[in-house]
Amino acid sequence: MITRFAPSPTGYLHWGHARAAREAFDAARRSEGVCYLRIEDIDHTRCRSHFTSAIYEDLSWLGFEWPQPVRLQSEHITDYHAVLTALKSRGLIYPCWKTRAEIKAEMAARNMSVYTGGPNSSLKPLGGIPLSSGAGPAAWRLSIAACRAELGAEFDRLTYNEQNLDGIISPQPAQSDRFGDVILGRKDIGVSYHLAVVHDDAAQAVTHIVRGEDLKDQTGIHVLLQRLMGWPTPIYRHHKVIKRADGQKLAKRDGDPSLRAARESGITPAQIWAAVLETSY
Ligand code: GLU
Repeated sequence: MITRFAPSPTGYLHWGHARAAREAFDAARRSEGVCYLRIEDIDHTRCRSHFTSAIYEDLSWLGFEWPQPVRLQSEHITDYHAVLTALKSRGLIYPCWKTRAEIKAEMAARNMSVYTGGPNSSLKPLGGIPLSSGAGPAAWRLSIAACRAELGAEFDRLTYNEQNLDGIISPQPAQSDRFGDVILGRKDIGVSYHLAVVHDDAAQAVTHIVRGEDLKDQTGIHVLLQRLMGWPTPIYRHHKVIKRADGQKLAKRDGDPSLRAARESGITPAQIWAAVLETSY
């Protein structure tokens, strides 16, 4: 088994990350596999290198060890652009200059619950020339219509395997169109989480993805990208995430207690585990 723990250095890790790291590292340990640490730092507007250093320190303090060198996504941006170029040349992504407000208005006018571009969204019918061109950088959206055209009936039959802790595998429908024409190349940073994560799981030969259930809905997009790029679909396990008393998941932006603050206040890793492992798997 090859798995990974892949935090983004946008803040200090919190207790929920301890739980998530434990799930991934334990899964690898149980099957004598390996768990990589991957730093998902493509978003230079929000990621900071001192948070990356803090991730290493906090995870070491919790007792985790991982193979070196650690993969930093910011060092592989050209690889992600190569995927965009490949998808572009196949007419599967299209440039979109619309603002958030314009998208919202168009969705209301066309009565859409998720955004899909109009019939001329794909570059292909136009021989590589976008229909409308705007000023400044565009976002690049995956055309669900073009994916459907390429995959035919297979599109609606895409599935992935979800494996529970007992090892039982159940196939899940991918429902790759549930978020419409998702952005694969962001206007501001050029690439996107979906693209980088799927590329890296393939590049690192990840066989099992163990991550929080909050990411489960995104899996269908990843499965579609794997199919389009000819990359294997790993086995997935989406574990429970720690919730706050109000039922929301813990998030760095809420100012929820970081592992760092816990450590500084004298809390031990054993106490962290006692608290975070109370929630049933
Ligand atoms: N980097 C993502 C996060 O911090 C996790 C990526 C993944 O596990 O697919 O939420």
